[in-house]
Amino acid sequence: MSASLSTVSYIGATILFILSLGGLSNPETSRRGNLYGIIGMTIAVLATVFGTRVSLAGLPYIVVAMLIGGSVGLYAARTVRMTQMPELVALMHSLVGLAACLVGFASFADTSLVFTGAERTVHDLEIYIGILIGAVTFSGSLIAFGKLSGKINGKPLLLPARHWLNLAGLLVVILFGARFLQGGGETALAVMAVLALAFGVHMVMAIGGADMPVVVSMLNSYSGWAAAATGFMLNNDLLIVTGALVGSSGAILSYIMCRAMNRNFIAVIAGGFGSGGGAVPAADGAAPAGEVTPISAAETAELLRGAQSVVIVPGYGMAVAQAQHTVYEITRLLREKGVKVRFGIHPVAGRMPGHMNVLLAEAKVPYDIVLEMDEINGDFPTTDVAMVIGANDIVNPAAEEDPASPIAGMPVLQVWKARTSIVMKRSMASGYAGIANPLFYKENNRMLFGDARKMLEEVLSALK
Ligand code: NDP
Repeated sequence: MSASLSTVSYIGATILFILSLGGLSNPETSRRGNLYGIIGMTIAVLATVFGTRVSLAGLPYIVVAMLIGGSVGLYAARTVRMTQMPELVALMHSLVGLAACLVGFASFADTSLVFTGAERTVHDLEIYIGILIGAVTFSGSLIAFGKLSGKINGKPLLLPARHWLNLAGLLVVILFGARFLQGGGETALAVMAVLALAFGVHMVMAIGGADMPVVVSMLNSYSGWAAAATGFMLNNDLLIVTGALVGSSGAILSYIMCRAMNRNFIAVIAGGFGSGGGAVPAADGAAPAGEVTPISAAETAELLRGAQSVVIVPGYGMAVAQAQHTVYEITRLLREKGVKVRFGIHPVAGRMPGHMNVLLAEAKVPYDIVLEMDEINGDFPTTDVAMVIGANDIVNPAAEEDPASPIAGMPVLQVWKARTSIVMKRSMASGYAGIANPLFYKENNRMLFGDARKMLEEVLSALK
């Protein structure tokens, strides 16, 4: 492939990636956005493989690597369930970090290119920063994978003087960076890599359950910067641009998540977060007391039938139960009967940004009745029935009522302000944040115990 064709392909791929991001920002255009992304990535891969810098002798290795990687990706896409998606994404972020580290070490070991003067300094800086970001992304993402899949306890691990530890680590990394640039070689690189790995582990281990969304989006951003660093090391413009796109969009997402969780963005970037940035773990808050009032599926159907306005609040449990299609059937039936049905979506519902929107779109729920938390919260006092399906933390009134709660200050969907709220879940177990929920004990709340899909099917047949 000629150099000019390669450049044109890179520009085309870049434009498609930007269009893809634009498309993905809205459910109605997201399919198109995905398509742009697929086409852009195909062009990018082909232009790189058949570009000017790959020798024919290296091609078989690349083809074999692509076949192996492609097969693993295809297998994962076919077998991984929607509920496992967040952990898969975390695992993939870790691979981007690992790639940046490996490329960094390979560039360092590569003696075929000889740089002098300023060029050498820039090259060494690229290697040092590339491995630094890559190592933090790699170990941090692995821990995030462990936490999201339940293999590692979700409770924050708060070492004494952890901020000082981080600061000391940062100073050592800067010190060894200076030594590396002066020709310090592999020792400086190795010390920094070990520290960066430890920082990644420490950073994510310190995050409490409910703060995980911020970490997931931060690691998304880090993986982008790691890819951009790889692009600098490989002198590949497209990788730099793509990495910067992922890095900056991840940073914007982190900001949005921080706002949704009422967390300080700067504190998050500095790694000083989890439990509100304090060194002392927050108390679990006051344990709610009283009795819960169970309700049957038939009684739920009765309440829904008599309602004029219903708000459905889906959460992680709806994804586990794969209940979205039954939810849609109920919605359709109620709307046919003249009931005003809308959905209230919390920004951190489920286990990944946009989780609920994806499920509802899959079930063909019309977009115009799916509202954001801010759009719907004011309407609960005039709502007859708020139906909570497998959600817990996002409807926990302790966030507003109990300053000692670990989720104090996090905006939540105020379902308890509806005339009746119905919570659909299997038991009294807590959600991801691991804290009790006083909503269950409120006078106007009813508990519909059981698997969400099974219970909704019973509600549906009672409605029919
Ligand atoms: P939660 O994890 O708070 O609660 C989900 C509830 O669903 C559980 O209490 C569980 O109760 C119930 N459930 C599970 N399976 C079923 C089933 N088959 N049928 C019925 N109910 C079921 O989820 P939310 O969506 O309310 O909140 C999301 C939480 O996840 C927040 O704490 C958020 O910070 C965190 N998080 C979000 C991420 C994101 O990007 N969105 C990423 C990482 C974490 P029971 O066992 O009794 O059935």
